[in-house]
Amino acid sequence: MLRRNPVPQLCILNGTAILPDRLLSDAVVVCRDDRITYVGTAQSRIPASAEIVDAKGGYITPGFVDIHIHGGGGADVMDGSADAVKTVCQSHARHGTTTMFPTTSTGTDDQIHAMLAACGEVRDTWNIESGSKIAGVHLYGPYFAEGKTGCHDESVCRAPEAAEYRRYFESGIVGIATCAAELPGAAAFYRHATKRGCLVTCGHSNSSWNEMETAFQNGMRHVDHFWCAMSNVSSVRKRLGVPMQGSMLEYVLSNPEMSTEVIADGMHLAPELLSFAWRMKRSERLCLVTDCNRALDMPPGKYRFGPEEDGSWFTSDGKVGWASPGSLASSVMGMDHMVRTMHKLGNVPLQDAVRMATLTPAERTGIDQQVGSLTAGKQADILVLSKTLKVKQVHISGERWAQSR
Ligand SMILES: [Zn+2]
Ligand SMILES: [Zn+2]
Repeated sequence: MLRRNPVPQLCILNGTAILPDRLLSDAVVVCRDDRITYVGTAQSRIPASAEIVDAKGGYITPGFVDIHIHGGGGADVMDGSADAVKTVCQSHARHGTTTMFPTTSTGTDDQIHAMLAACGEVRDTWNIESGSKIAGVHLYGPYFAEGKTGCHDESVCRAPEAAEYRRYFESGIVGIATCAAELPGAAAFYRHATKRGCLVTCGHSNSSWNEMETAFQNGMRHVDHFWCAMSNVSSVRKRLGVPMQGSMLEYVLSNPEMSTEVIADGMHLAPELLSFAWRMKRSERLCLVTDCNRALDMPPGKYRFGPEEDGSWFTSDGKVGWASPGSLASSVMGMDHMVRTMHKLGNVPLQDAVRMATLTPAERTGIDQQVGSLTAGKQADILVLSKTLKVKQVHISGERWAQSR
């Protein structure tokens, strides 16, 4: 049965709490209504009236925050209906994501407006049955550079026009905004998105160091899925000739203010790259993202990336999406898988892997006062994980998500 009202008091114990900088064994986490009220080890803090959750020697972590997510459970947020968006929120809640930024692909003006409206409706009518909460939309497509569109439909890819994107921002729901830095109009787009309080990012781009520097001056602070659909020294050389110039890669690694993200599914990037990204940017400037498409928890087969009606086709083999042989089309895995992969294959300490899936994306998008860590006063978004980091329970705003496994 779904519980429709928050439990007045909830106490999770007998587990190791994962804090941003350390593990806290034999932890006690207490919540009242939708807030965390205590995190520590004092057994004396367990209220007599609280409902007790036994973590059974596993882990207690904050709910995951995903800033780059297209779909799941058979639906893509670009399908443009509230039902589709809700299916995505529910499918990712099962994998521990409690806060998300549904992410546009390339699409027509009408398709993007339909997506923004659907996400607004689901956000405004949230209850526990809806699953993961929507913190904002990631306006990702359509402002990608030619030749760097990856699995997105290139025919609806374009340069940013103020008359068009101002209306997207007027929806009030855009929290993250991507544009390739070399496109005409990118500077004005970045300034507008910065003024609207967005995390401003450059992705699907072949931009040079100098273009990144200009973008940075206009507010750009993040690069989408590091190493994927972005420039490197030789791709910039092909575009701009000699002398060889720095690319997005060198720019991100050298600028401490820049953050980035990795698709840590073990299919997009080899373990040494996951480990390298963490050593270079540390967990304060590196996010884990799923970049998940609609094939999450679906059988292997052919699916559309982006809108159901005319998105580009890809094939899921159950491990990853393929646009064509040898060319990937985003992931088919939830955030729990990314955290396990980063920790085990990337050899990253558990508290760092979790920080990259919680507090860091929350900080970069300005929602860290509300979510992202087990801290008294924050929203009670809490996961119970097994010793092998499988999701056992999901609590969102103090309520138990009943479909958690
Ligand atoms: Zn992408
Ligand atoms: Zn993506």
